[in-house]
Amino acid sequence: MSAPGADPLGANPLAADTAMMRVAIEAAGAADPRDVPVGAVVFDADGRELARAANAREALGDPTAHAEVLALRRAAEVHGDGWRLENATLAVTLEPCTMCAGALVLARVGRLVFGAWEPKTGAVGSLWDVVRDRRLNHRPEVRGGVLEPECAALLDAFFRAQR
Ligand SMILES: [Zn+2]
Repeated sequence: MSAPGADPLGANPLAADTAMMRVAIEAAGAADPRDVPVGAVVFDADGRELARAANAREALGDPTAHAEVLALRRAAEVHGDGWRLENATLAVTLEPCTMCAGALVLARVGRLVFGAWEPKTGAVGSLWDVVRDRRLNHRPEVRGGVLEPECAALLDAFFRAQR
């Protein structure tokens, strides 16, 4: 047991989720001004940050450059255990799409924490539920709606400025 406050991502999983989401929000802030501000961060089992990324679809001209995919790639590079990210947590400011939900299942991510719901394209409960499909042999633990107002506000500000 660590002393209270010694480990910001410590024993209380709900507090840890909130702390991780704050990092994802920070990551979203690094998005190119042309890109929808979505941020993702991967943490190892001890709560250490492995990698973070912002959506860079416009910046990279890459349809697959969603924040989650970029963060998973970077995390696997630094993790030193091949491509598997078992016991890792991915925190992302927006409910993942089908591509990203598929990628995090393939990466064997242990836990997914997301912020805002995405009713139009969400694949973690809104439109599909890819990560909890019983036909798949790996199903991450999921918690959605963490710091939802802050995560949604990022997107609202972006789309308001686009008009
Ligand atoms: Zn995606």
